[in-house]
Amino acid sequence: MLSTLKSNRNTSVLPWALGCALTLAASASWAASPQEIKKIAESQKQSYLETLKTLVNIESGSKDIEGLNQISKVVAAQLEAAGAEVSVIQPKEIMKLDGAPDQTGPIVKAVLNGKGKSNIMLLAHNDTVYQKGQLQGQPFRIEGNKAYGLGILDDKQGVAGVIHVLDMLKQLKYQDYGTITVLINSDEEISSPGSRQLIMDTAKNQDVVLSFETGGLDGSLMLATSGIGAAYLDIKGRGAHAGVKPEAGVNALTELAFQIQQLENLSNPKTGLKLNWTVATAGKTRNVIPDQASAQADARSLKPQDFATLEKTLQQKVQTKKLAESQVDVKFEVRRPPLEASAQAKKLAAQAQQIYKNELNLPMKVETTAWGGGTDAAFAGVTSKAAIIEGMGMSGDGLHSDKAEYILTDSIVPRLYLVTRLIVESSKP
Ligand SMILES: [Zn+2]
Repeated sequence: MLSTLKSNRNTSVLPWALGCALTLAASASWAASPQEIKKIAESQKQSYLETLKTLVNIESGSKDIEGLNQISKVVAAQLEAAGAEVSVIQPKEIMKLDGAPDQTGPIVKAVLNGKGKSNIMLLAHNDTVYQKGQLQGQPFRIEGNKAYGLGILDDKQGVAGVIHVLDMLKQLKYQDYGTITVLINSDEEISSPGSRQLIMDTAKNQDVVLSFETGGLDGSLMLATSGIGAAYLDIKGRGAHAGVKPEAGVNALTELAFQIQQLENLSNPKTGLKLNWTVATAGKTRNVIPDQASAQADARSLKPQDFATLEKTLQQKVQTKKLAESQVDVKFEVRRPPLEASAQAKKLAAQAQQIYKNELNLPMKVETTAWGGGTDAAFAGVTSKAAIIEGMGMSGDGLHSDKAEYILTDSIVPRLYLVTRLIVESSKP
């Protein structure tokens, strides 16, 4: 460049400036060309597997705070090495969901500030459904085109995926996005009581949200997930001797039976809303009129407003009682809201399909109706108009099992490639 400058000394400055600008533009687009992304994705495979091994080797069940702190530290360091500003956040407000612990593990937040305008969010989780000690039975190992290990599919592959996508962007020197915000939480498997608020807040001004749960064995993208709810019926009566003076009691079990009957048919096949009573307890001793009874129902919905309507209906209906002196309370919990397939998500998923087909010669399915499971992507959907895609993670099988959880190693390069390409396609300079 210096010699060009010297020899062009006598020409006007404009063509030189123009040439320089063109060179810059050409090198910027070259740096993020499909060919270059492919090359870098391929070069990441080995280090991706090493990251995955490190993550699998740290046991991190949802209630194992020590393990979660440890893995969060490792993940934070890796994201920092990839160039992000990283903070490890200890959740303060834990939503009082049934069975939720008082404390949940940290959330790793990482931000890359680019030079463009679009805001992109990447989601994955550190916690697993397993207990400490179970890793022994399922250590990390690679056999053929499968990498096995406890929690490898759900969701350590996703955490490693996010880390290596950031590393790829660094290597590409790609900065045409506005911001890339990563959230890696530690309580996904227990319905995210400590992280849901941060996910919702962060999602608000995003244009794209990519969530790194697995897309199953065939790597399908998912644009809709089920809402999962729970109803808790709690009845208080009055105890009395069942043989000597039953009329002095208020039979909580009798009231429960009445309530279950009147709350029985609230499902709606047309909208996909489901409510099924699944657990009940009442009484402890045969000769005592039970003073307490309770029941639980599982609820599913495809539309967010259906849960709100259902809760209202439950509250109204329990006002009608069989035994006037009983006390009937019903509580409804949205464990996870549903995610609906939006037009933006469909558009982005179609782009992903094109990238797979035209650039990798690979097929890809896109699911637009929920299959029954729920994920954190749905929390993003509560507050955000972003294009939200779930299932960006690696392909595999065996999650939540104690036998053979694995990922297909052949999916690593295509997925790293796809996510990076989608970030490039979604970036507005
Ligand atoms: Zn998961």
